[in-house]
Amino acid sequence: MSQTHPLFIEDAYLSTAEGKVTAVNDRGGILLDQTCFYATSGGQPGDIGFFEREDGSKIEIAATVNGQSKSEIVHVPSNEQAVPEIGEPLVLHIDWERRYRLMRMHTACHLLTVVCPFPITGASVGENESRVDFDMSEATDKVSVTEKLMELVNANHPVFSNWINESELEANPGLVKSKNVRPPQGSGRIRLICIGEDAAIDSQPCGGTHVSETGEVGAIHIGKIEKKGRENRRFRIRFGDMPQ
Ligand SMILES: [Zn+2]
Repeated sequence: MSQTHPLFIEDAYLSTAEGKVTAVNDRGGILLDQTCFYATSGGQPGDIGFFEREDGSKIEIAATVNGQSKSEIVHVPSNEQAVPEIGEPLVLHIDWERRYRLMRMHTACHLLTVVCPFPITGASVGENESRVDFDMSEATDKVSVTEKLMELVNANHPVFSNWINESELEANPGLVKSKNVRPPQGSGRIRLICIGEDAAIDSQPCGGTHVSETGEVGAIHIGKIEKKGRENRRFRIRFGDMPQ
């Protein structure tokens, strides 16, 4: 097992970085000493992109996932790519256009949990549409939720991270909005994603990538609210203004 230093935790805006190959696994997955490629987790898909070798040739990366543990990040090449040498330096390039849309969408999901303060039962971030499921029995309409979301976007609140330790989290169980998923235990430190001056709008544990101001989310709307069972509602967030 090898550890990968996750550069995206400290800086979500790193679209390129340098890394050295530490291993190539038996399925061709490439491991590096450090990476700006986010690995699929917490409902956010992993990055795609390419690695640039010293001779200028490219290795296309089709997916990024965790390996045997969360501290191991595996870059999965597309079919029929060259296999790099152990120790080889590479320049890593994320498909930034796609990632930035995911960052905007992921941040929009946080804003939705502010507008709808109910326990989250599921979430999935996508390039064009995201969904968040809530344990809520009361009905709500997509126009008023969209208005409240856009108020938060237009106020351009800061989005930043704050690190706490596990005992602080245990002392504030209300920080966890997810009904079934607990933040990973055992690492000692937990990253909170905070919104607003002094986290006045929101803070919750999250390992994903986010924009640094809510204004960057841009125009979004609730495309659909579906009733999933008696006490579950699924919200679909889409980019752009609400269709008239
Ligand atoms: Zn998040």
